[in-house]
Amino acid sequence: MAENHPKTDQQWREQLTPEQYHVLREKGTERAFTGAYWNTKTPGLYHCAGCGQELFESDMKFDSGCGWPSFSQALEPGRIDEHRDVSHGMIRTEVTCSRCGGHLGHVFNDGPAPTGLRYCINSVSVQLEKKEGAGETSGS
Ligand SMILES: [Zn+2]
Repeated sequence: MAENHPKTDQQWREQLTPEQYHVLREKGTERAFTGAYWNTKTPGLYHCAGCGQELFESDMKFDSGCGWPSFSQALEPGRIDEHRDVSHGMIRTEVTCSRCGGHLGHVFNDGPAPTGLRYCINSVSVQLEKKEGAGETSGS
C-alpha cells in the first residue's frame, strides 16, 4: 500500500501520458515486444515513471524473451511492494513502486540464479537514465 499518496487522480492524469496513466494507475499492461525497453541493454538506472524513484539497474536486467523488460532483482529492498493479484483467473504477484504506488508489472519465480526471480516490468512504468560515459559499444 502506498502510504504517501500526495497526488490526486487529476494530477496523475496531467502528469502522465495516457499510456503511463493506464499502466501505472489502472494496472494496465503494455503489449509484449512493443515497449521502449524490452530489448534495451544500455547501462543505466531505471526510475519509476510516476515519481522518479530508482527501481532497477541495467546490470540486473536479463533477456527473458517474454517481450517486457525483465530484472532479476530490485535496486534495493523496499523499493518495490508486492501484492497478491488474482485478476484474469491467475494467481500472480503484482509489483508496485513503494513510493507512489504505481503499478509496474509482476514478479515470477522463473528467473535466473541467484534470486530465481523475474520482475516482468512494463516499459512505460519506468524511465531509463543512461549511465554517464556509457558509450554505445559496437558489436559483441
Ligand atoms: Zn513511483
